[in-house]
Amino acid sequence: MGPASPVLVLNQNYEPLNVCTVRRAFVLVDRGKAEILENGRGYLHTASQLFEMPSVIRLVYLIRRPRPNGRLTRRDVFLRDGFTCQYCGKPTKELTLDHVLPRHRDGAHDWENVVAACKGCNHRKAGHTPHEAHMALMHRPVRPRVTTAYLVLPYVESQSSWEKFLSGWL
Ligand SMILES: [Zn+2]
Repeated sequence: MGPASPVLVLNQNYEPLNVCTVRRAFVLVDRGKAEILENGRGYLHTASQLFEMPSVIRLVYLIRRPRPNGRLTRRDVFLRDGFTCQYCGKPTKELTLDHVLPRHRDGAHDWENVVAACKGCNHRKAGHTPHEAHMALMHRPVRPRVTTAYLVLPYVESQSSWEKFLSGWL
């Protein structure tokens, strides 16, 4: 457990909002924007001080739900696609990102043009469109709705201290 460990962020009304890092949580607490609800991470020692490392924080003011963030990572795409190749349907951890319309042909790096593909399918498709490569997508790629469940579920199994704050919300 360290500064990059995940922290559950609750809205002022206790609605689960987001997941941030211990480092980010420190900043929010330090600026008086959040309070620590659960100190599940032990303590961080510095030369002169002892800091509680939170696992759950609550904002002191009510915020409107955050807009879906625009950043698109490999993990986001693999999660959306259920860690399954979108061409052959094989579930695998050995996934690559495939641009449906290849980048060198002005394919965008966005939710609608990026899918998870296994190495075999990515190799076979190479620099072609699915049509040219005689391959078909299982689903049309879309931008996922960002829900709390989508943000939080990947962590739930490993974060038992979050359970009581999530029950009834997901
Ligand atoms: Zn495949």
